[in-house]
Amino acid sequence: MNICGKCEAPVSTWQRLSRHEHVIGGARVELMDSALEVSCEKCGERAVIIPNLLGLIAAVAIDRAQTPIKLNGREIRFLRKTLEMAAKDLADMLEVSAETVSRWECDRQPISANNERIFRMKIVVGLSDRAPAMEPRLDELMTMKLSPIRNEFDLSVSRFALVRFKKDGKKHDQWDTELLAA
Ligand SMILES: [Zn+2]
Repeated sequence: MNICGKCEAPVSTWQRLSRHEHVIGGARVELMDSALEVSCEKCGERAVIIPNLLGLIAAVAIDRAQTPIKLNGREIRFLRKTLEMAAKDLADMLEVSAETVSRWECDRQPISANNERIFRMKIVVGLSDRAPAMEPRLDELMTMKLSPIRNEFDLSVSRFALVRFKKDGKKHDQWDTELLAA
């Protein structure tokens, strides 16, 4: 049961939005047939509910980690935070100083290709529990050639949809990338 955020009346009217745009980690994503719009019969307030938001953030992070365009500083920071790693934890894992991680995240020093690859693999492995429907492509990541750092508009909008995913004998709604029909 949902409660209206404005008047606290119980809300029972909702519809699934065929398409809903949302910004996560600086990236625009489209949610297909997954977000819910609830509307309050009493006061008319409308709100969009994104089911399993933590799972969506993990799916967006994995999708970005498996996209062969070099990460910018803001993305490195978003991905590290999504992994719930302190800057020092990432620095220790990659055997660099915490100051170096800070310079990567401020775009004052580029991350090396090998460190970026290890970081991306850590994202895919570390977040797979939260987005189990996303297909891990670790083999591809090992040999992936990264194209140069992008400007804000280079990356195409990724589409995500909730899918029924069976895990431990139970079915859950999990996020997956929806590939555009060719
Ligand atoms: Zn209301």
